[in-house]
Amino acid sequence: MGDMILLGAPGAGKGTQGVNLAKLYGTPQISTGDILRENVRNKTPLGAKAKGFMDRGALVTDEIVVDMVIDRIAKPDCQSGFMLDGFPRNLAQAAALEEMLTKMNRSIDHVIGIEVANKELIRRLTGRRVCRKCSASYHTIFNPPQNIGRCDKCGEEIYQRDDDKEETIAERLKVYESETHPLISYYTEKGLYRAIDGIGGVDSITDAITGAIDKASDNS
Ligand code: AMP
Repeated sequence: MGDMILLGAPGAGKGTQGVNLAKLYGTPQISTGDILRENVRNKTPLGAKAKGFMDRGALVTDEIVVDMVIDRIAKPDCQSGFMLDGFPRNLAQAAALEEMLTKMNRSIDHVIGIEVANKELIRRLTGRRVCRKCSASYHTIFNPPQNIGRCDKCGEEIYQRDDDKEETIAERLKVYESETHPLISYYTEKGLYRAIDGIGGVDSITDAITGAIDKASDNS
């Protein structure tokens, strides 16, 4: 499967699909949002720098996330491939990614764009709950956990992310539109972008993604 990017608005299902794809392909899922939240939770200097941006739904500075990704991709488990979830988020980050990969003699093989309309994104994000420990994702109505407030997978507490409050969601969707959406044209021009309809069952969307990757790999 190689080196891959999962692109899509907040709530499109990047995290959920990433879990399935990581299992199928055996490549690590690298979520910059998860790494940042872990830093905030552990009160690290990096977390302190990032928190204000995250709480108001803005992007944290490129330097912070780029350095984070450079460190993470250099780890041995990424040697035969990785899956980026939530990075790059703007054109400057995409350029930085290209530069770091070139230095490592590698390049992006696939960019999967999970496409979901705004109204559905808002519905998903307002009801989203996540596990504090393993980041498994639930929804109060569409996908509640078996025991209220507890993760089905690891038993830890599930909670509502601070940035999943309604005012912040609107800001994040705005930031996605202005900063991240331009990456679709950027990767389309490079012949790497594969659009996937993000509405439907989790497993059927995973099938659509693996189908698109197989098809692109056959053609290359
Ligand atoms: P996510 O979990 O991907 O929705 O990310 C949560 C928050 O973390 C975002 O709203 C940003 O504040 C921050 N963040 C995550 N990834 C990035 C990135 N690549 N660039 C800048 N900020 C990011």
